[in-house]
Amino acid sequence: MIRTRFAPSPTGFLHVGGARTALFSWAFARRHGGSFILRIEDTDLARSTPEAVQAILDGMHWLGLSYDEGPFYQTQRMDRYRQVIQDMLAAGTAYLCYTSAEELAELRDTQRAHGLKPRYDGRWRPDPGKDLPTPPTDVLPAVRFRNPTTGVVAWDDLVKGRIEIANSELDDLVIARADGTPTYNFCVVVDDWDMAITHVIRGDDHVNNTPRQINILQALGAQVPSYAHLSMILGSDAQKLSKRHGAVSVMQYDHAGYLPQAVVNYLARLGWSHGDDEIFSAQQFCQWFDLDHITPSAAQFNPEKLDWLNAHYLKQADNGYLAEKVAERLAARALALGDAAPLTTIVGVYKERVVTLNQLTDAVAIFHGALQPPADLVNKYLTEAARPALREFTRRLADVAWEAAAIGALIKDCVARSGIRMPQLAMPLRVLLTGQEQTPSVDVLLTLFARQTALQRLAIIASGEGSS
Ligand code: GLU
Repeated sequence: MIRTRFAPSPTGFLHVGGARTALFSWAFARRHGGSFILRIEDTDLARSTPEAVQAILDGMHWLGLSYDEGPFYQTQRMDRYRQVIQDMLAAGTAYLCYTSAEELAELRDTQRAHGLKPRYDGRWRPDPGKDLPTPPTDVLPAVRFRNPTTGVVAWDDLVKGRIEIANSELDDLVIARADGTPTYNFCVVVDDWDMAITHVIRGDDHVNNTPRQINILQALGAQVPSYAHLSMILGSDAQKLSKRHGAVSVMQYDHAGYLPQAVVNYLARLGWSHGDDEIFSAQQFCQWFDLDHITPSAAQFNPEKLDWLNAHYLKQADNGYLAEKVAERLAARALALGDAAPLTTIVGVYKERVVTLNQLTDAVAIFHGALQPPADLVNKYLTEAARPALREFTRRLADVAWEAAAIGALIKDCVARSGIRMPQLAMPLRVLLTGQEQTPSVDVLLTLFARQTALQRLAIIASGEGSS
């Protein structure tokens, strides 16, 4: 039974890297019919906030990453951590260390002065035949893990391959501070053990923690999970992904008008591949996902590709679904709907032409409320040469059947009779109707308006204003 977990520290929002870690852990569990567990690592009280927890939950919900167990909060598991510490003290796999902060600082300074890497010297470690100092009465002890001193700690990382660390490189880690609070690596170990995690999939910023965690797990007699450390995500300029690269929080993509399907598809390909497949659903991803096809090298963020995917998913999306999303966005802009065609019809036409939901909303907004087309465009296209044909067109538009074919025939007829070229008629219509030079074909465009609104927007043609 595969059991994976996502274990974010709630200190900000759900960022792109965290979302990818969550997605891979989720997909791996789904692929194998296992369980995906959400664990909130909130022991850093100074940095953890309820808002950040909510941001993580919102981001996962938006992406559709459902969890089977949790969320578990480390702050609610303190009794359990304390109990394991007591067990380890009793078993001799951990010991009390009375070294004061000043002594530790002194030790560090001496080691640095001798060009050595600062590390605890094991002065309170109870080794056979060793005389320990008498515990001072004025120092509260920390608890240290009794790390093996010989041999190597090794694991076959499912992304990075075999990694081996000599135990002589590792000093005895503090697992509980003098005030009794358990430390980060220790809580992770107890949780992975208690939650029976089989596969730890996480960012490779944790590679250095892994040998220590494995040693503690072994001391506890726990099954050591498999580890897959994901390489970091770089920005398009090959620098570490940061705010400079635009959206770093997953929910910013929602605000910017990206569909969760597109973001999931995009994140899935950040460091993982399935042949040449670029476009696939979350469901398909869950059937395909494996750890063998994760690249050990860093993945690079490519905003153009995300745009391309989003445009694809918008085109594919059901008009009713898009209309709902656009309606929410129109409401946020406090834009009252006028007498234009139903939202489903307008989004059906425009979804082919935009990259984001926000652009789709901009397009829909054109059909509602008042429009002031830019004067320079009006002057450019509303020419005297075109005006007679435009006049005839708007006159006959009042009676034509309100559907694209009939309007298209009317346009052709007016062009043929006047001898002007099609763009001479079409461009001023586009500009007057939408304020823009690029629109869907004019016959279709007109059907998206109520006839009265279209005629109002074109009224300037009869009034004789515009350029000469
Ligand atoms: N809480 C850690 C983080 O947010 C993850 C720990 C883990 O996955 O083991 O980076």
